[in-house]
Amino acid sequence: MGDHRRKYRLIIGLFLLSAMAGVFLIGEVLDVDSPPEGETKAFSEVDAFFKGSDQEVEVYRLIGREAGPTVLIFAGIHGDESGGYLAADRYVGLKLLRGNLIVVPRLNLYAVLTGRRTGLSGRDMNRKFSDSEEENDPDDKVVRLAKSLMDQADIILNLHQGYGFYSPVWVDQTRNPVRWGQCNVIDISTFNLPDGERLHLENFAREVVQRINSKLIDKRYHFHVNNTNTFSERSFHKEQRRSLTYYALAHKHKMAFGIEATKNCSLAQGVGYLSLAVNAVLEKAGIRAEAFPSILTAEIAKELKRNEEFSGLRVRINGVERVIPRESPILLNPGDRLQILSIEANHPRGWYPSLSGSEMYNGMGKVFSIRQNDRLILQKYGKRVAVFHVVVKKDTALPIEGRS
Ligand SMILES: [Zn+2]
Repeated sequence: MGDHRRKYRLIIGLFLLSAMAGVFLIGEVLDVDSPPEGETKAFSEVDAFFKGSDQEVEVYRLIGREAGPTVLIFAGIHGDESGGYLAADRYVGLKLLRGNLIVVPRLNLYAVLTGRRTGLSGRDMNRKFSDSEEENDPDDKVVRLAKSLMDQADIILNLHQGYGFYSPVWVDQTRNPVRWGQCNVIDISTFNLPDGERLHLENFAREVVQRINSKLIDKRYHFHVNNTNTFSERSFHKEQRRSLTYYALAHKHKMAFGIEATKNCSLAQGVGYLSLAVNAVLEKAGIRAEAFPSILTAEIAKELKRNEEFSGLRVRINGVERVIPRESPILLNPGDRLQILSIEANHPRGWYPSLSGSEMYNGMGKVFSIRQNDRLILQKYGKRVAVFHVVVKKDTALPIEGRS
């Protein structure tokens, strides 16, 4: 175990002990590569915070063979922006040659599973990043986790998708300064740190935008830098003072960018724009990987479809394990205990089964006592991909007159 690995483990350990006391957490090593002579092993692992709840947050950590900067990618803070969380998920399996990634594809799982902008609190999580917290807000623990992850990164991204196209000048209803699609959002051009150093956000964002646009033939989809001047009294976007990226910059002193793709395109295209933008940030930051995710719409469309394929549900009924094939009903006796263990699928992430009669969306691993007919809804991320009919057999006791 190399020094940097040991240090990393120690930091994570201390972080978990101090900051996350009381949180149910499972760490799982995903992948270890054999390194060339003299280099550290590429390494990745996942931690699940608030596991089993509708606010579960998976945090993927990818460590490159060579030391380098750490980029933290958040997505899914708004559940109705599926391009964001689908794009972020594509970085979880990268093999990093240099630098590190922390990927949080679904920060606001409840919002993702309900397909809404807001999470469990019913309010926008991207307006909750400040030093003052409201009492008894169910989103607070997730916001605290996000803030603590910022300490481990050099550059922080928050992926979004919005209608229309940002343009610094007014062109028409869909292309103007108040639209958000196709831009890199910064809060200020240059941020002065207390030690006299400066963070040159605009220069960085401009270079990233140039890299993005050099790969986009259709100029209607070109990106722009969108400086919301959030610190200024004259800012049109003072609401951003409670956003994740503003907090990362103003309170944690990190380079932070909102990345916005348009919703005025197919989902695969939107995922492609966000992937293109993330790839450009990683390249500019000096992160290297064996391969970055594809930016070709046709390939992404196939990939998204392939990721939704599954053959059945692995369940436990009254303690006995079995697989329910796709399209088959789940036949039970009244009072049977049904537990969903896993999904038989090649793509391992983002499966959320639940019973339509239950209050929860993330029913994986839960034990349900079944008394009446129900429907088991299987979601892949925020999309319903299958419905299983849960059929409870009628009472099988013989009628009284038939008994001997
Ligand atoms: Zn958003």
